[in-house]
Amino acid sequence: MENPKCCICNRECENEYGNNAQPIKEGRCCDDCNDRKVIPARIDSYLKSRKRNIEQNPEQRRRNQVISSGNKWAIENWNATHNEKLKI
Ligand SMILES: [Zn+2]
Repeated sequence: MENPKCCICNRECENEYGNNAQPIKEGRCCDDCNDRKVIPARIDSYLKSRKRNIEQNPEQRRRNQVISSGNKWAIENWNATHNEKLKI
């Protein structure tokens, strides 16, 4: 089987599997791009998502959890105990 082409630099990958190029691109990439671009980008997006979580206070986090759960009871419970009313 032929090695896939790197979707970032277009060179042939070192082996038939290549590396997952997410979050830079959809597809496979070579070891070189993986080490120099993909892994730093992953660390970067991980740190950003951590930072977002830290920036939100616990109340906001809880609110987002309630909204994203779409749970009717959780929303009604929130509305009963907060001034801010969420839509079910
Ligand atoms: Zn590459």
